[in-house]
Amino acid sequence: MVYGRRARPKLTSIRIIFWYTVRMETKDMKHEELFKRAKKAIPGGVNSPVRAFNGVGGTPVFVESGKGARIRTADGRELTDWCCSWGAMILGHAHPEISRAVAARAKLGTTFGIATPDEVSFAERLVSLVPGLDMVRAVSSGTEAVMTAVRLARGVTGRRIVLKFDGCYHGHSDAMLVKSGSGVLTMGASSSAGVTRGAVADTLVAPYNDLSAVERAFAKRGEEIAAVIVEPVAGNMGIVPPADGFLKGLRSITSKHGALLICDEVINGFRFGFSTYSALYAGITPDLVTLGKVIGGGLPLAAVGGRRKWMHELAPDGPIYQAGTLSGNPLAVAAGLKTLEILERDMPYARMAELGSALAVGVSTLAAEHGVPVTCQSFNGVFTPFCTDLPVQDLADAKACSTALYAKIFHGLLKRGQYIAPSQFECNFVSAAHTARDVDRFLDAFAQTLVHL
Ligand SMILES: *Cc1c(COP(=O)(O)O)cnc(C)c1O
Repeated sequence: MVYGRRARPKLTSIRIIFWYTVRMETKDMKHEELFKRAKKAIPGGVNSPVRAFNGVGGTPVFVESGKGARIRTADGRELTDWCCSWGAMILGHAHPEISRAVAARAKLGTTFGIATPDEVSFAERLVSLVPGLDMVRAVSSGTEAVMTAVRLARGVTGRRIVLKFDGCYHGHSDAMLVKSGSGVLTMGASSSAGVTRGAVADTLVAPYNDLSAVERAFAKRGEEIAAVIVEPVAGNMGIVPPADGFLKGLRSITSKHGALLICDEVINGFRFGFSTYSALYAGITPDLVTLGKVIGGGLPLAAVGGRRKWMHELAPDGPIYQAGTLSGNPLAVAAGLKTLEILERDMPYARMAELGSALAVGVSTLAAEHGVPVTCQSFNGVFTPFCTDLPVQDLADAKACSTALYAKIFHGLLKRGQYIAPSQFECNFVSAAHTARDVDRFLDAFAQTLVHL
């Protein structure tokens, strides 16, 4: 605005400024008040730790609603959401077709504890879309899916040890809450209080992308290893794609030694294309696959599946027990089926990949121009701005990133209307609802953030 002469403030404009100041202050306090209340009634104020903003400091955001790529916070701000419920909201928030499907289903009853026709359709759908997936069982979370896969692997092989990779997350069942010890290949140390040494004594930990560590493990203890579990594209230390030959190598080592290969595709599945990563990109058939996030369409729904001969070992066909009151409930299945239907119809994958790489290239370029060490790694619409100049190939590389710089970038972006993961060690997600304009706005906000670091 250009003023010809110095404007004389009128009483009304003073009133407006006063009203605005008061309103801004109440707005800022809203999240703090909510967080204070939350901390009294919920441990740490949150129902999942990362939401507490411990990775970046400050008061966590509370969300009232979402629509497409946007979320509205309790203090009335509109943010562009790149978290998308950790990838679950691949079609964006409150997609009208999914909302309608869920509402229609809710009117007909949400759970019975009795078999329903739709859960059969859901299982058939997954089986038809994922090669090597002969049967699936629905569960309510990725944690449960992995817990079942691990029990199944131990049950069918009669062996104890599960080998996982440092930095891969497989939910919070006891056996998976393990971190590496001091050596390169170690028996895991529990990464949580309350997990007994016994519960992790049978979990081995190797660095991600380190096939020779896996070979050494099998050379030493091959006859005791029930399974190797891996996120084909690691997504829980920030995004780290597999090195050439890593997944094929895991497939051949496990086959050779009679161990099962479990691909945990809870993030990967139906995210990078209309099937699993192992089928579409790695060209391998794992023995067991776990799915979650995307396939639940924003409701609690996950699945474990695989070869028929293994899946038959689950109760009631076989001796390996697994159950769930809400497993395959019609409400979640309605959201899941509708999500798969829309993904198949709209095939948004190429567009999401394009936007994701434009964003990642933009971020890395801007950072280089400003002399700030940020390298944005991305794969098919999933991205992590790593605060380092070096490529990140495993957890040790990720841990070498500057979390202090990440916190500054996070808050700079948040101030400018962009919500990314409140932790360096997470992924961000382009959804089908994001547009090229959203990417431009993100890059503008990022450039501004760099100027004001
Ligand atoms: C999110 C995630 C899980 C756990 O799923 P929940 O639904 O949170 O229990 C397991 N494995 C991977 C790879 C995940 O990303």
